[in-house]
Amino acid sequence: MLEYKFNKFLSLPEVKFIKKRNLTNHTIEFEAIKQSTFEVCPKCATKSYKVYDHVYVNIKDTPIRDKQVFLKIRKRRFKCP
Ligand SMILES: [Zn+2]
Repeated sequence: MLEYKFNKFLSLPEVKFIKKRNLTNHTIEFEAIKQSTFEVCPKCATKSYKVYDHVYVNIKDTPIRDKQVFLKIRKRRFKCP
């Protein structure tokens, strides 16, 4: 992670950094997993613990020097009870 340790998202306790990849000479991708044990349903605000799927979320982050930074976060999707 090195120079990237100050990123807010990757410093969250439930986010685990996996790997760094150079996509091109000017593009870096950081892959991470969000390991929350539950999520709150956006529709009814119920806590859900039932994992039914995984999704990747791509976030464009602030550049480091001359490099474009992308975060690829693997999240669990929870089924609303
Ligand atoms: Zn719900």
